[in-house]
Amino acid sequence: MQTVRTIDELRTAVRRARGKGRTISLVPTMGALHEGHLSLVDRAAGDDAFTVVSVFVNPTQFGPGEDLERYPRDLEGDARLCERRGASLVFAPRAREVYPEGSRTWVTVEGITEGLCGAFRPVHFRGVATVVVKLLNMVQPDVAVFGRKDFQQLRVIESAVRDLNLPVRIEGAPTVRDPDGLAMSSRNAYLTDADRQRALTIPRTLARAALRWEEGMREPARILEGLEENLVRRVDRLDYFGLYDPEDLGALTANGPAVRHPLVAVAAHVGVTRLIDNVQLGVDPPPRVD
Ligand code: AMP
Repeated sequence: MQTVRTIDELRTAVRRARGKGRTISLVPTMGALHEGHLSLVDRAAGDDAFTVVSVFVNPTQFGPGEDLERYPRDLEGDARLCERRGASLVFAPRAREVYPEGSRTWVTVEGITEGLCGAFRPVHFRGVATVVVKLLNMVQPDVAVFGRKDFQQLRVIESAVRDLNLPVRIEGAPTVRDPDGLAMSSRNAYLTDADRQRALTIPRTLARAALRWEEGMREPARILEGLEENLVRRVDRLDYFGLYDPEDLGALTANGPAVRHPLVAVAAHVGVTRLIDNVQLGVDPPPRVD
């Protein structure tokens, strides 16, 4: 397995693989890889695809005061893990390679980027959509795999690909959790032991909503009853919590139209860490918690 830093090297390797008739797959990441990322690599590398894992901490998706500088980085460790899991190439470009001097073009997805995380991170999805479209143009994969843990991100990317007629299939993969139920995230490294205990209220809350759904409860107000109060007691700041339409990501209300499989989604700060998680009711397995 090769690690390359330039678009030229990347394209040469991809061209060679395509010449041999291989399918090309892409897994975009910001590195500090964990089992969640590696489950995407497993999926992308199936059927003998030539699998590119990009490792790039994308500066344009971080707002002022966010964790760009302290975001965990470990390229050597990441490359070892990728090789072990069957990736073909790690693409780890420098910022100047991705954003040449004078870059002035952005991909903006409207509407679905305004709520949920978009309301708290105003430049985030513009940065995400731009870097993902750039990576898709650099690699030109047949398929690209993303995690459902970042559900809004997945919808943003699906929209950009559809609206810009990009010739790639986007796949969403299930959220991988630690045994205590916490969704894996590179940012979990910031949590102290005490933070982590408090953070567990997030998967526990999602599990309770999922249980109510499984018991046949369908009214948003009843599914959510008491859960937000419980979250607010345990976390340091709750950005959002609620039931959302999984297509347009609008909040579900008591009198609104019924949705077949609503999304329960949460974003909360615990210590210095901002955590997000979600479960699509009747689709995702409820988090297993103690
Ligand atoms: P990141 O490095 O955080 O930008 O994530 C890169 C990709 O991995 C995104 O598609 C994420 O949705 C996905 N991902 C991150 N955490 C998980 C997880 N716990 N389970 C499944 N996919 C994940």
